[in-house]
Amino acid sequence: MATTERTGSCECGAIKFIIAPTDEKAIMCHCASCQKQSASAFGSVIVVPTEAVSVVSGQPKQWLRVADSGNEVLANFCETCGTRVWHGDIEKDAMLKVRAGSLDDPIDFSKAIQIWTSRKAPGITLPEGVPHFAHHP
Ligand SMILES: [Zn+2]
Ligand SMILES: [Zn+2]
Repeated sequence: MATTERTGSCECGAIKFIIAPTDEKAIMCHCASCQKQSASAFGSVIVVPTEAVSVVSGQPKQWLRVADSGNEVLANFCETCGTRVWHGDIEKDAMLKVRAGSLDDPIDFSKAIQIWTSRKAPGITLPEGVPHFAHHP
């Protein structure tokens, strides 16, 4: 549970949003898609109720991707700087996966759920005692 409001934005600042204090769950995903879309070693998100998220400025562009699981993922990103800000439909979905790096203050990943660890990059060390799954749980 975040007890204070969170703020976030894309890299260029065109998209700005607020997350009201709410329950949140941190996930680090080591799957190939998350590595590609973040152009980095893994993807990291907080899952929050959509009703807690409000857009302050800007309008994300959207791209629908079909995941390996067959699930559709609606990716929301800034058309100027390309930052992926969240996954999910802010109009329809109950929960959004907000990309953790888009938030202005760092997320505590010490208890984050680790998924797709079968794809984890060599040299990335997981925290002790956290839930982890070789694939999607
Ligand atoms: Zn931007
Ligand atoms: Zn992933």
